Amino acid sequence: MSIITTTEAIVLTKIDFRETSKISNLFTKEFGRIAVIVKGAKTSNSKMGRLIDVLNLLTIVVYNKSGREVQLLSQADLQEYYPSIKSDYEKIKYASAVIELINKLLPEHEPALRVFTGTKKILQNFESSEEKPYLIFARYMMFFIEEIGYEIQIRACSDCGNELHQDNTAGMDYSKGMICMDCGKKHLSFVPFERELFYLLDCLKYGKKAVVYNHRNIQNLLFHFENYLKYHVSSFKGLNSLHNF
Ligand SMILES: [Zn+2]
Repeated sequence: MSIITTTEAIVLTKIDFRETSKISNLFTKEFGRIAVIVKGAKTSNSKMGRLIDVLNLLTIVVYNKSGREVQLLSQADLQEYYPSIKSDYEKIKYASAVIELINKLLPEHEPALRVFTGTKKILQNFESSEEKPYLIFARYMMFFIEEIGYEIQIRACSDCGNELHQDNTAGMDYSKGMICMDCGKKHLSFVPFERELFYLLDCLKYGKKAVVYNHRNIQNLLFHFENYLKYHVSSFKGLNSLHNF
């Protein structure tokens, strides 16, 4: 069955294809992650070719045929191109990490409306909020991990179920999530968290304003999130954007 649909899309990747076309990975509101071909995109007067740029938010018309690996993009209009992100090194770094998470961890052809809405919101935050890009990203990564089914519980030990709070120290075991110190003794890969780090995790998870944080703490947390994901998703090898920039 084939349908022509108008939907929103965030451009994840683009590569040249044959003489004149491009193939692009899009994160769409309607269909989730899909690959599309943009015919004639490499010719200088192609409007669609210019709009297919990583990060851009577009309204697209796609000719979607089930069972076909690459769909045909028939129209695109620009909603937002995030000029402030594209001109700021730190913002590009963390916005690229957002794109990488989606590209590497969301399955193709599976609609993920909450992730789509959350991603649109976070890109807008990078674009116009005063908040540090790494803090915005850490909050997004926590949300993303939960959305793909690996939520990190922080109220109770994921091993024995005892309550966790910032006064009794806890830590992370990559196979389980957050666990208490007693259970930590039984796990080789246990990493104890300082109070401040645990508090930061709590703020990110429950959308509280993070009052106590510093760059080192956030980097620490991102490192643990990355390892936790690597442990749970064997095909995931980490986020290049965080290390190569
Ligand atoms: Zn425990």
